[in-house]
Amino acid sequence: MSRPASRSSLRKPTTKLAVRRPAPRAPAARTKWVYLFDEGDASMKALLGGKGANLAEMTKLGLPVPPGLVVTTAACNAYLAAGGFPSGLWDQVLVALAKVEKKAGKKFGDPKKPLLVSCRSGARFSMPGMMDTVLNIGMNDAVAERLAELASDRRFAFDAYRRLVQMFGTVVLGLPDEPFEEILALHRRRRGVGNDADLEADDLAAITAEFKAIVAERTGKPFPTDPIEQLRLAIEAVFRSWNGKRAIDYRNAANIAHDLGTAVNIQTMVFGNLGADSATGVVTTRNVTNGAPEIEGDWLSNAQGEDVVAGTRETNRIATLAAAMPGVWAEFARHCKKLERHYHEVQDIEFTVERGKLWMLQTRDAKRSAQAAIRIAVDLADERLITRAQAVARVTPEHVDFFLHPQFPASERKAAKARGDLIASGLNVSPGAASGVLAFDADTAERWARDEKKAVIMVRPETKPDDVHGMLAARGILTSRGGRTSHAALVARQFGKPAVVGVSALEVDEKARLFRVGERTFREGDAVSLDGTTGEVFAGALDTVVPDFNDPGLLKLLGWADGIRKLEVWANADYPRDATRAREYGAQGIGLTRTEHMFFETERLPIVQRMILATDDAERDQCLAQLLPIQREDFAGLFRAMDGLPVTIRLIDPPLHEFLPSHDELLRDVTELDTRQRIAGAELAAGADPLGLAGTLSQKRRLLAAVEAMREANPMLGLRGVRLGIHLPALVRMQVRAILEAACECMREGVKVKPKIMIPLTAHNNELMVERAILETEAAAVMKEQKIRVRYQFGTMIEIPRAALTADKIAKHAEFFSFGTNDLTQTTFGISRDDAETGFLQEYLEKRILPENPFATIDQDGVGKLMQVGVALGRRTRPDLELGICGEHGGDPKSIAFCHAIGLDYVSCSPYRVPIARLAAAHAALAGAAPA
Ligand code: PEP
Ligand code: MG
Repeated sequence: MSRPASRSSLRKPTTKLAVRRPAPRAPAARTKWVYLFDEGDASMKALLGGKGANLAEMTKLGLPVPPGLVVTTAACNAYLAAGGFPSGLWDQVLVALAKVEKKAGKKFGDPKKPLLVSCRSGARFSMPGMMDTVLNIGMNDAVAERLAELASDRRFAFDAYRRLVQMFGTVVLGLPDEPFEEILALHRRRRGVGNDADLEADDLAAITAEFKAIVAERTGKPFPTDPIEQLRLAIEAVFRSWNGKRAIDYRNAANIAHDLGTAVNIQTMVFGNLGADSATGVVTTRNVTNGAPEIEGDWLSNAQGEDVVAGTRETNRIATLAAAMPGVWAEFARHCKKLERHYHEVQDIEFTVERGKLWMLQTRDAKRSAQAAIRIAVDLADERLITRAQAVARVTPEHVDFFLHPQFPASERKAAKARGDLIASGLNVSPGAASGVLAFDADTAERWARDEKKAVIMVRPETKPDDVHGMLAARGILTSRGGRTSHAALVARQFGKPAVVGVSALEVDEKARLFRVGERTFREGDAVSLDGTTGEVFAGALDTVVPDFNDPGLLKLLGWADGIRKLEVWANADYPRDATRAREYGAQGIGLTRTEHMFFETERLPIVQRMILATDDAERDQCLAQLLPIQREDFAGLFRAMDGLPVTIRLIDPPLHEFLPSHDELLRDVTELDTRQRIAGAELAAGADPLGLAGTLSQKRRLLAAVEAMREANPMLGLRGVRLGIHLPALVRMQVRAILEAACECMREGVKVKPKIMIPLTAHNNELMVERAILETEAAAVMKEQKIRVRYQFGTMIEIPRAALTADKIAKHAEFFSFGTNDLTQTTFGISRDDAETGFLQEYLEKRILPENPFATIDQDGVGKLMQVGVALGRRTRPDLELGICGEHGGDPKSIAFCHAIGLDYVSCSPYRVPIARLAAAHAALAGAAPA
């Protein structure tokens, strides 16, 4: 690169040329690469970057902003593309700089009235600390001496000078920081001080000279003493920092496009370290931790901005500025209010006081905690600074989610990471934080939690329905296998238990009751912590904090969201306590009760197993008769909890073998018992069987035979759902009877009931016709016996593509559809919902073969299209067909937007997602979401 032209050779003629040049003709209009602060505004973030646009806006508002100029993001892009400044850019910088000098009443590089400037990056989206900054540009020996004189402070002048040389050396010239730091350390030792702030003026002058020597030695060129050259090189360095590794990594992580470029803000330096009447501070216009409407932040007298941020000096609370500098405080508080009112948003502001004069250096929308986000949105709406709809739009699902689960404080998480205690990560399937001791099976988990009052984390390779009691007792659930719709994930979400599943790094050894992860081993009883929001697993017990869902701001905001949304929000709930919680969270009905979950309770499972193994109708009927009153009470509990709201009860869905012991375990037991019996052959022959081997063996053999008879290669595509109901009508009759009898019982108590009976996994309308006939006959019989008419509805899940494609025929037999998008995704993609997420699906996501996990967010192009077809065909047959969704997608904001767009009536999700779904449904209505 050629040496930059000197100031005198470029500046004057260019200025004149710019004035004299005739107006250029379109379209060869000269690109405007440079804007003075008073030429821009906040709407120009794409061109001026966030910082530059806000500085321009503050200038326009008449606030005291040190004058400056912005080199545009377009200039950066042109520079990066061509490897040099685009034509006209440098001239425009010099012209603008002359105007800045005039405003500041100082001159760049002029020792009489020297102007110093900062040169800072500023992209359209905030990328904190990821790009470069150079301060105190304009310094050289003569300027430093003059500044020392003007400020009557030689220490100040040489401190500024040495900082420029150090920053310029590292940032612009790319030198390592160590040699500079070594010199500083040497001088601190010599002076016998621990802090740079305690070095004296002579030290700093000597350090500056030594720094310059480093630059000369390492670059082969002297440190540029021409301020214009300093400026030019600094601008180039900031441009280049857009493509620095840090910046690229950050953009990748934050999903920021790589072609936006950064603007460069060149601004008059003001100093907060010019004595006791100078100061600097950083504030937010409201408290961003709890949302309280008071200015919050820190300040320091006689200091520079970085001293406040770096935490090297103990800062003062901003409220104390009022007493220390009353005039400044009054002006500052006025500006804060003005900015908040102007932006209709809480601002994060940096300011400096230079010798009693207040300067506003930066403003931007403030980052905030979840609690603060909600309180601020509600307060701003109540103060009429924004509308209620805007308040709802500003709160995110994550903000609401925060209130529903225990959390690890940021400090706990950070400390654990620093200790190396983050041991693994998996799928974050059920949010919230939990810590406790490891239990390797459900019984131990339950015993420890119930009897010994321990906090337990239950760990399993994967969970099965008969683990539910352990899951309920545990604080959190951890599995090494399974995906987002695995049993563990579904149940954990429904119960609001934090869960991390599919942690493939865990090697669970159930027999030895331990797991290994890398080099470390964790045994039963060892403490671990897991974060179901992030999917992280930590060694040791981290503290948790529990937010309060009844936060008045949150309740108010969700109330506003309810007034906006069109979708109803229902819940998936199996037990009355879940239904009650769902209602507290605002659910308007139950969209799915998985009746089979009730079959797994300890006292019921043996009856269910006997029913499955029954060899004749009489035995089966006897078992069903035992189950009937139990199911009736289950349903009555739900009706009572929901009093008048719809309750959708799905008849049994899973293949029956799921209720029986595992085939592999039975085979192992039979083989073992068989061997032991043979060894004890002689005694048995003599009629002695003290251990009861023969009896146990024959019972296990019978079980094994039954399990083998029911074994299917693809049970998910086998005898389940509606097929099972057709195959075992007695079971359907029992369930329908239980629903209707429960309804009658409740109606007699004065409880309003709205039962909806739902058939799973329908593929063909004939299946529904058969099932409906069985069901209606039984329902009619119950109503006749009870002498009560129950208004119930009959509907089906749409979980198979064929059902969606023939929805017009299916709707003839169904009064409602509920899209079971877990199975619909599985059957549309032809991939197993239980295995895929810990297998190849992960690879697909990493390689971007699939843009999103289709088990978490509806695949609009495929599954979504089937849903649209289902909606259109279904409503063609039955215009008042009620439509909902009860797959896990019903709690996913993006999927909720899709459900809104295709005209569903409701979404149904786990009780703990209900408040989020209320907000997401309002967001969808506000955005007028249409299918992508
Ligand atoms: C579904 O498939 O989306 C559904 C809700 O049913 P399940 O998860 O019980 O199969
Ligand atoms: Mg299903």
